[in-house]
Amino acid sequence: MNTQRQNPSVVIIGAGMTGIGLAIKLKLAGINNITLLEKAGSVGGTWRENTYPGVACDVPSHAYTYSFAPNPDWSSFFAPGHEICAYFQSVFDRYALAKHTYFNEEVTRCHYERGRWQVETANDKHFEADFLFSATGFLHRPKYPEIPGLENFAGPKMHSARWDHSVELKGKKIGVIGTGSSATQIIPELIDTENTQVSVFQRTAQWIVHTDNKPYSESDKAKFRAKPSRIERVKNLSLYVFEQGTTALTSQSLFYRTMHKLFAWNAVRHLKQKVKDPELRKKLTPDYTFGCKRVVMNGRFYDAMQKPNAHLVTEKIAKVVPNGIVTADGQHHELDILVMATGFDSTAFMRPISLEGRDGITINDVWRKKMVAYRSMCLPGFPNFFLTLGPNSPVGNYSVIAISEKQADYAIQLINAWQSGTLETVEVKRSALDSWYAKLKGKLSHTIWASGCQSWYLDADGDPLTWPDSWKAWTRMMKTCNLDDFEHVSVQAQNDTETYSLAES
Ligand code: NAP
Repeated sequence: MNTQRQNPSVVIIGAGMTGIGLAIKLKLAGINNITLLEKAGSVGGTWRENTYPGVACDVPSHAYTYSFAPNPDWSSFFAPGHEICAYFQSVFDRYALAKHTYFNEEVTRCHYERGRWQVETANDKHFEADFLFSATGFLHRPKYPEIPGLENFAGPKMHSARWDHSVELKGKKIGVIGTGSSATQIIPELIDTENTQVSVFQRTAQWIVHTDNKPYSESDKAKFRAKPSRIERVKNLSLYVFEQGTTALTSQSLFYRTMHKLFAWNAVRHLKQKVKDPELRKKLTPDYTFGCKRVVMNGRFYDAMQKPNAHLVTEKIAKVVPNGIVTADGQHHELDILVMATGFDSTAFMRPISLEGRDGITINDVWRKKMVAYRSMCLPGFPNFFLTLGPNSPVGNYSVIAISEKQADYAIQLINAWQSGTLETVEVKRSALDSWYAKLKGKLSHTIWASGCQSWYLDADGDPLTWPDSWKAWTRMMKTCNLDDFEHVSVQAQNDTETYSLAES
């Protein structure tokens, strides 16, 4: 093995949850020549950027934790955003990642030249590496609503992911556009703020699964510390529930179709128990299949919406005017502050970074017709490049930390194949991507996500960007590499390849 192959250099774009986890996994696998490039001044990604009131994870804390860094100190079953951000910082410190990291280095262009990745930043810095990982997250670029007159609003207006903490909320009339996971966390906080009037502009009612956020006492934490197997138990149980939920959204078996019905029934039961006014309840009742949009997990929204200072508006927004919103029925809703909890561009991935592979092929070229990546990670024409949390990565509501760790393990297997010379470069064949996606698409079109609602799960053609099968099927796929699917495999390796086919799942 030549020296370069023994010690491959790796650039990771992004020091959020995925980038940090990936860097550590690479180090644990003996790959130490790592550079993390982070556009901001600190770590944490989405948890650094989302600081809105009420921000918390709706995946249980112990399941939203790296496998190699359990945390007995979570303050509650669902941890608040700032605590999650602090957790990432502590793991980053524990694994001494600072010496690998450049902060305030926004990557603008990456191109593959002379057999290596050339990476440029907005500060005109240049990095070179054998391998490039995009770990920029997929819910990252705020999506602003296209509403006439939005630019004319005279008061403070902000996206949920760009919260302006200098804005005084007390005593204000606040409008919130959206009722997704972010909005349903923000709204109860705004309603509970002194003397506010909160108008919630709901376009589509959400399916909401009730969650209780139990705080962990000092004694609970001491027990977790004394006996880490307790943490494992909570984690495994939580993940098991998410796994069942995911399978209930994807499986056609009678058992899971029944479970799907039970989930939906339970959500309706919760709505009926919580919301007494039949008119309000009707407005909050979704009219599409449970799970078609990402299910909202929340324990406070329904209570909050019944408080006297909460106003649910279901009329379509016609326009924004300097002092409020006018709805299609002509009603003027006077507002001092406008909050846009309108989600993210889930199809941007690493863009606007300019990404050019072999022979000048760009990411926009390969994604012109369809945004796909082999096993969500590899692209033909882009040797030694890995996408993390790429298209078709979301496995239902399952913990993205667990997903990203499996992706890291998968990439490490391929890097090892490159190190041993089995693969000349890690470059997937076009034919392998096409046949992989053809099988995927066959399944995607029958999933719940394609059952007729609008959501960030869908691409421009209306095809889901999710994984159409169970967590188990996904982990089975990510466990082994089918080296036949890659270019330039040595003859010996061709005889040894392990395969996985979607049909097996
Ligand atoms: P989202 O789920 O995409 O919800 C956006 C909301 O804005 C929807 O209610 C949508 O209505 C509404 N909307 C968008 N454009 C609109 C317009 N022009 N007029 C009226 N309403 C409009 O976004 P999100 O709530 O930020 O959540 C995105 C994802 O982030 C979540 O699904 C989740 O994966 C993640 N997240 C996770 C957590 C967590 O705790 N782990 C917390 C927050 C977010 P329609 O439904 O009609 O489109």
